[in-house]
Amino acid sequence: MDFQSHIRVIPDFPQPGVSFKDITPLLKDGRAYRAAIDSLVSLARPLAPEIVVGPEARGFVIGAPVAYAMGLGFVPVRKAGKLPAETVSVAYDLEYGSDRLDIHKDALRPGQRVLVADDLLATGGTIRSTIRLVEQLGAAVVGCVFLIELTELEGRAKLAGYNVLSLVQY
Ligand code: 5GP
Repeated sequence: MDFQSHIRVIPDFPQPGVSFKDITPLLKDGRAYRAAIDSLVSLARPLAPEIVVGPEARGFVIGAPVAYAMGLGFVPVRKAGKLPAETVSVAYDLEYGSDRLDIHKDALRPGQRVLVADDLLATGGTIRSTIRLVEQLGAAVVGCVFLIELTELEGRAKLAGYNVLSLVQY
């Protein structure tokens, strides 16, 4: 399947100079969406994960179906203040200021083998923070899967030491 043909590139979104990779054409095509999830599952299977973690919001659209297809549970990582029970948090820097990601404190077991999933790897900041949350709970990241990797931004370098797998590279 040619996944790239289902990804729309929008110049200067959300700001001038950024070339945004829009995955909504892929998501609305049932065959392409299923093929993408099946391909990510094939990449993830050898890592033998026990659970999948995905960051809000597009990480849910990728991580949850991967978890379902593998017969695993799914754990959401959310922006500050959205999760109802007790959480642990990590602050991360944005271009202007900072934000916070949360995970439920009881979401993972120590030593549990975690697959992290998101739609796109850019600078790696989101997934680096997600990994920190997983490790704060004592669980182990066995790999990170992405639909898209923007290789120029070198997110992979920020995730050195982790298994990083992607379907489409720009
Ligand atoms: P990073 O933290 O790696 O710099 O950015 C990755 C996060 O930003 C992902 O959660 C992703 O959803 C979002 N993101 C950044 N750029 C794009 C893009 O061009 N397309 C899409 N679909 N998401 C993006």
